[in-house]
Amino acid sequence: GNESRLQAIHQITNCSATAVAQPEPLSEIWASDVFNLATMEQCLSKSAFKAIKKTVQTGAPLDAATAEVVAAAMKEWAMGKGAKFFSHIFYPMTNVSAEKHDGFIVTNSDGNAITEFSGSLLIKGEPDGSSFPNGSIRMTNAARGYTAWDPTSPAYIMQTENGATLTIPSVFMSWTGEALDKKIPLLRSNAAMNKAAQKVLSLMGETEIAPLNSSCGAEQEYFLVDANFAAARPDLLLAGRTLFGAPSAKGQQFDDHYFGAIPQRVQVFMQDLEEQLYKLGIPAKTHHNEVAPGQFEIAPYFEAANVAADHQQLLMTVLKNSAKKHGFLCLLHEKPFAGINGSGKHVNWSVGNATQGNLLDPGDTPHDNLNFLLFCGAVIRGVHLFGPLLRAAIATASNDHRLGANEAPPAIMSVYLGDQLEKLFKDIKDGKLTVTEAGGEMNLGLSQILNFKRDPGDRNRTSPFAFTGNRFEFRAVGSGQSVSGPLVVMNTMLADSLAWIAEKLEAELVTASCKADAVISVLKQLITEHGNAVFGGDGYSSDWHTMAVEERGLKNIPTTADALPALREESVKKLFATTGVLSPVELESRFEVYSEQYILAIELEAKLVVEMAKSMIYPAAVTYLSELAAAGANMAELNIKLDHGVAETVAAETNAMMAAVTKLSAALETHDFDSTEAHMQYMAKDIRALMDEVRLHADALEAEVADELWQLPKYREMLFIK
Ligand code: ADP
Ligand code: MG
Repeated sequence: GNESRLQAIHQITNCSATAVAQPEPLSEIWASDVFNLATMEQCLSKSAFKAIKKTVQTGAPLDAATAEVVAAAMKEWAMGKGAKFFSHIFYPMTNVSAEKHDGFIVTNSDGNAITEFSGSLLIKGEPDGSSFPNGSIRMTNAARGYTAWDPTSPAYIMQTENGATLTIPSVFMSWTGEALDKKIPLLRSNAAMNKAAQKVLSLMGETEIAPLNSSCGAEQEYFLVDANFAAARPDLLLAGRTLFGAPSAKGQQFDDHYFGAIPQRVQVFMQDLEEQLYKLGIPAKTHHNEVAPGQFEIAPYFEAANVAADHQQLLMTVLKNSAKKHGFLCLLHEKPFAGINGSGKHVNWSVGNATQGNLLDPGDTPHDNLNFLLFCGAVIRGVHLFGPLLRAAIATASNDHRLGANEAPPAIMSVYLGDQLEKLFKDIKDGKLTVTEAGGEMNLGLSQILNFKRDPGDRNRTSPFAFTGNRFEFRAVGSGQSVSGPLVVMNTMLADSLAWIAEKLEAELVTASCKADAVISVLKQLITEHGNAVFGGDGYSSDWHTMAVEERGLKNIPTTADALPALREESVKKLFATTGVLSPVELESRFEVYSEQYILAIELEAKLVVEMAKSMIYPAAVTYLSELAAAGANMAELNIKLDHGVAETVAAETNAMMAAVTKLSAALETHDFDSTEAHMQYMAKDIRALMDEVRLHADALEAEVADELWQLPKYREMLFIK
């Protein structure tokens, strides 16, 4: 019956929301749980602070003596905040983060407890690498991975029910030095981008060039579902999305009684969430606007990409934990409810440094304009050459449900520049933009013409990759994904393009009459070869889908199975090898890990579909059928004829559902495949199609079967009752 459903509704409607407390002053809580430079300055000697500051700001290696001093200060600080444990947090190739906890307390030979946390423990930890996916990287000797502190990302105190833990952001590598994580490639991609950018900037006559870094600001969408409902939905708990569920009829769900309870509970949650994030030094502001019912957004201010990526990962953890604390399940799945807008993550990205500023900001001087055009051109070339790689970087089983579904960018990678910038590049291509002024100074007045209005309606929301005034915004990233993969690809393709530009520019500068002339002719070649990636129209339209593929030669890559093989392309191998971001072995191991995860994700869902159809939906349907049969028999005794229509529909849908379940179960028995690619295609096509077939009939049953027999919480309940 529907007892669990009713009980959930009962519990939710009877829970009284906690009152919104007075927020703590930001000045008191901001970064209070972070061992950042300000904290270090207070508790380290001048010389030790100077050494660690240099490491933090430039990534220079830390000497053992300083490490020892920093470790002692860090331990002191953490224990003062109640921490009894420390852990190296690292970011394996899956989208989650992993930790290994150790106590500060060890017992010495006298049996007395002492606290121990040395410089070497800070710098290096040894979790067992064997339980983390490592793809083809077979570790010799021991299945071991090492973690090592990344001092450019600050340590912090993580508060959980189990107490406070000093948490140390770390890289994770194999015994043989291969990257087993998502942080090492990100750090390397920054370095590659910096190297190529330095070259271009010095050719442009810059004399002082500070190290360049990429920045990232990620807007995160998520759903909240009451934990009581989630507890009655195995699919939400195990797969993070509903595998069944008939659409809710609009209108009826706006039960004022329920609706009135929404704002306060969520408000209390959001305030608590913000406070926790502030304590962790994450500059986040929650947005209360819902796109879909039950959906919210949180957008931290941008930071250096490496720190932003760690903070993004931490934000997802804190989101989930806080939601739990407030009686919600936080869904980071890209498509938790069929037919309802899904969740994404917009990754805002730019590159810059202390001397030239943001290179993707047009700037005020003619010189700034030229630098900007070169960097912007480099991005266009990158998206054109490595579109399929960008698509691979956001390829997951769950994101496949969202991309191209007319609510999210299509699975075709193109760049949106805005009308004026698009026209400028077109003029360059058509030879209409030439340098006429004496001395070669040419003011394009870009800061004026690119004066982007802050009105979001003014921007093209249908593009996966859009210029938004002083940065690019990659909008096709999945809501549950680590932002590191996309950042690695963006930085690396930029590095490659900047290297190409440097080579061309160097040659042009020999013959050109002035710098501006040289820049324009390099850009002319660039946009002639790669302008096909620029598109300002409606990315959702079918015209674009046809034009992109047939006229522009771009690829439409609908599924992860189609996308991941890009990681095995020669051009991609070469890109990562020449930039030093990933060796061929490291790249191949990523292909293997990501494809395995894709296969496992669909397999898990398919098994759940079989199980839920058999054990939750079929029983409801047959119970209803026997009730109908009994009612029909009773009516017959009274000589009243009850129409069989409903019973026939229910029986037909039940039979069809169970036939599909049988096919799906059988299909899951196939394990022999010629290649990983073939296995992925099988999951993408055969298995997913059979899952859809089961669902089609199950959802039809939900609309027919008596409500009181339906066990699974319904869409209208999960989306609207809070
Ligand atoms: P919208 O919803 O209009 O896309 P938001 O204001 O919600 O924009 O989010 C914009 C995000 O872009 C924020 O995280 C912001 O900090 C970030 N951002 C702004 N400038 C830069 C930049 N130069 N580099 C990276 N991210 C940036
Ligand atoms: Mg955005």
